Amino acid sequence: MFNKILIANRGEIACRIIRTCRQLGIATVAIYSEADANAQHVLLADEAWLLGPAPARESYLRAGRIIEIAQQSGAQAIHPGYGFLSENEDFAAAVATAGLVFIGPPASAIAAMGSKSAAKRLMEQAQVPLVPGYHGLDQDPATLQKAADSIGYPVLIKASAGGGGKGMKVVESSANFASQLASAKREAQASFGDDQVLVEKYLTQPRHIEIQVFADSHGNCVYLFERDCSVQRRHQKVLEEAPAPGLSPQQREMMGNAAVNAAKAIGYVGAGTVEFIFDTLSGQFYFMEMNTRLQVEHPVTEAITGQDLVEWQLRVAAGEVLPLAQAQMAINGHAIEVRIYAEDPDKDFLPAIGHIRQLRLPPQTAQVRIDSGIVAGDEISPYYDPMIAKLIVHGANRQQALQRMAQALAQYRIVGVTTNLDFLARLVAHPAFAAFDVDTRFISRFRDDLLPAATTPPASAIAALLLDGLLQQSASAEQRRLASSEPNSPWHSSSGWRLNEPYHQTFHLSSGVERHSLNVGFAASGYQSEWSGQPLLFNGQRLPNGELRLQLNGRQFNAEIISLGNEHHVYVDGCHYPMACYDPVLDGLENAETNHNLTAPMPGTVVAVLVQAGDTVEAGQPLMVLEAMKMEHSVVAAAKGTVAEILYAVGERVAEGVELLRLEDVA
Ligand code: ADP
Repeated sequence: MFNKILIANRGEIACRIIRTCRQLGIATVAIYSEADANAQHVLLADEAWLLGPAPARESYLRAGRIIEIAQQSGAQAIHPGYGFLSENEDFAAAVATAGLVFIGPPASAIAAMGSKSAAKRLMEQAQVPLVPGYHGLDQDPATLQKAADSIGYPVLIKASAGGGGKGMKVVESSANFASQLASAKREAQASFGDDQVLVEKYLTQPRHIEIQVFADSHGNCVYLFERDCSVQRRHQKVLEEAPAPGLSPQQREMMGNAAVNAAKAIGYVGAGTVEFIFDTLSGQFYFMEMNTRLQVEHPVTEAITGQDLVEWQLRVAAGEVLPLAQAQMAINGHAIEVRIYAEDPDKDFLPAIGHIRQLRLPPQTAQVRIDSGIVAGDEISPYYDPMIAKLIVHGANRQQALQRMAQALAQYRIVGVTTNLDFLARLVAHPAFAAFDVDTRFISRFRDDLLPAATTPPASAIAALLLDGLLQQSASAEQRRLASSEPNSPWHSSSGWRLNEPYHQTFHLSSGVERHSLNVGFAASGYQSEWSGQPLLFNGQRLPNGELRLQLNGRQFNAEIISLGNEHHVYVDGCHYPMACYDPVLDGLENAETNHNLTAPMPGTVVAVLVQAGDTVEAGQPLMVLEAMKMEHSVVAAAKGTVAEILYAVGERVAEGVELLRLEDVA
């Protein structure tokens, strides 16, 4: 076994590989870009070497420099993780030429699967079932059109060099084929520098089921069952589970054997995944492509098999035989993984960037695992994948796993950057998902349930936010009283007693675009107010862990509020309600004070620019509107001045603290 390896990656997967290395007593060498100097993978590794600036091509894609660092640091092997150089045949070959071990398949196997068309031709010979289609070398538009016509519409045009869903076009009828072909070829050329395409029958209700295979250098090859990755947005996975619900043992065995045949056909060694498209109508499965690396979603396979796939990779790369034979493996229970992304599901899952201010994870147990490379204080930068973490749960069966997942998601707290956590919670709670009425169009089919228009928060969330404010006020009044020379003076009383009128206080809250003013008064047993025409009678206390215990209209429950200035994240009954408090009088003035240098108060999107360069503006005048957390915030001028320059336009995303516009001749 190796005693030192280099990990040519970053983020959660680098941390994940380090964890297994540590267990096996293997020293680790991390590499990092300037943006990642304090990243977890750097801190966890035994040593770390700087590669260069943040952009990947100047850092994590510098193959030559990475091999040099491996040699200088005395590493014997390189683990490429996923993404970056992991499926780059030239890198795999260069590592071997440098006398190091590439922890992955031989360069020839990567090359064989690099082109979807060539891979399909190879698979055809290995008698692996293929989606009916054309994957020939003749790229004459007339040939392709003829092929599409004979396959029957709808068809799917795919870039042969494709990945990440790019260069894919669904064609509904023969009349549209030529224009869609031209468009697919342009996209393929722009994304991959190669405009070769293939044409396939487009399945309208497919599932994505993939088989984990493993081969060693002694001719053994096994499959570690399947993963269902049908829940996708933009042809990309967000949730994966193992085993695939409803798959019969016969289907599993047939797919497993087909995957093993695929791997054997290309002399495969190491961890690989054979992706199949599964037709829910006919129960037929067809080869799609093979990924020649460890997949993001490998932990669900680890959960149901009890195996450590990174350990298997290291053993196989060191020349050992596979730890288990096919007959020694069995499926135990059910596992589900969700990918927690910094992204905005309401904006077509657009990646979000920003600063993670607060991060709290659900408790990790034998059944709840979190793979992450991010801690509170870290920045989600535009340079790399915006995945924050993977949350993996295991249960005795699918229902138990789903319940665990719902519970863990409800306990997750991420504040400071927009995430898909609320979306994931709705996804795993959806009755159609529980019933496994799932195919690759699941998210679009249930879009209205999964991405509901902003709703008015429930009374429980409002009462929690009000109570939090009231308890804070009385805590600070109590502090003032104790600090004063006359602690018993009636002027320090916080009971709300007033000489001439019943005491009440007005709170101004905003949720999405809605604004609400609530009067809160004292009642015999706590506080009273009104919400959506219903009386609110509430009371409660702060628990030692900072959460609130509320009594509301006869029910007791817990709630938690995480505040960032005037922004309040209310967590109650497993849901998250972002809200803000505002003072209708001071609102403009306060904003003016905090934004006197016109920087973005939080990461967000510019939704309006209200002035032009050269305009004279008055103190308090709104200049720009940002949207974050589904709420709008105005950036206002602190003083009279002239707009010198506007640095961002409508639609652009801004990170927290960046300068938005410049004023001059400020009075
Ligand atoms: P990429 O390499 O760009 O990720 P894939 O070939 O892996 O592309 O396909 C990505 C996704 O597109 C699949 O998971 C599936 O949801 C969908 N897809 C691919 N081929 C077909 C097909 N023939 N019919 C219907 N959907 C398909």
